[in-house]
Amino acid sequence: MVDTHIKRRGLMLVLSSPSGAGKTTISRRLLDTDDNLSLSISATTRPPRPSETDGKDYYFVTPERFGAMVDDGELLEHALVFGNNYGTPRAPVERALETGRDVLFDIDWQGTQQVRETARDDLVSVFILPPSTTELERRLHTRAQDSEAVVHARMAKAADEMSHWAEYDYIIINDDLEKSVEQVEAILTAERLKRERRVGLRAFVETLRAGQ
Ligand code: ADP
Ligand code: 5GP
Repeated sequence: MVDTHIKRRGLMLVLSSPSGAGKTTISRRLLDTDDNLSLSISATTRPPRPSETDGKDYYFVTPERFGAMVDDGELLEHALVFGNNYGTPRAPVERALETGRDVLFDIDWQGTQQVRETARDDLVSVFILPPSTTELERRLHTRAQDSEAVVHARMAKAADEMSHWAEYDYIIINDDLEKSVEQVEAILTAERLKRERRVGLRAFVETLRAGQ
């Protein structure tokens, strides 16, 4: 396909949602099928869940190490979520964007606001809503990796988080998983075709105009 030969700057695809709405599930599906997309692995002071691996799901760090990363400017954004620190390491993102690779971020609305301020042109933001509150609670329970107290705290915060939906470029209601994945893929396809990102287009059109 000719498209792939035209140099392009990578984009930052941010997925946010209240906890339990399905952004991790959707992210995994996208990452499995899209070779040009890689996940930004955040640093966090939260303890790992049973299924999580250090360096794959998160970099699990101490509060001291996290503080040093902030002080040294190593993080693109950072926020306190549910009493734990979370932040995005800057260097891998910058490397990826320059080489035309797209980066997927599972970050909250506070982090998205910071990225919007510093890198608006690279950002494509998607907010994922659950189909209902009852279903959100059911999903938090079926994930069954957090204690009852943690599930309650996350439900209590869901309304707060959802109040930020209108700050996002796209909104997806994650009822049917297959449909939601298709919708994010459609967003990615369209955003990759944006003229501003396709920095190689000018040269390509010049060759066309020169009849080469
Ligand atoms: P988040 O990353 O937003 O906190 P997860 O992706 O961990 O949420 O999803 C929470 C739970 O809901 C998981 O058990 C997941 O399998 C389930 N889930 C996600 N999307 C759907 C969907 N469309 N329909 C039914 N269950 C879903
Ligand atoms: P969890 O503990 O369920 O993995 O994540 C809790 C919340 O923290 C989610 O809303 C997730 O999007 C957010 N989060 C994860 N990593 C980051 C990050 O690097 N920065 C910000 N701002 N939020 C994050």
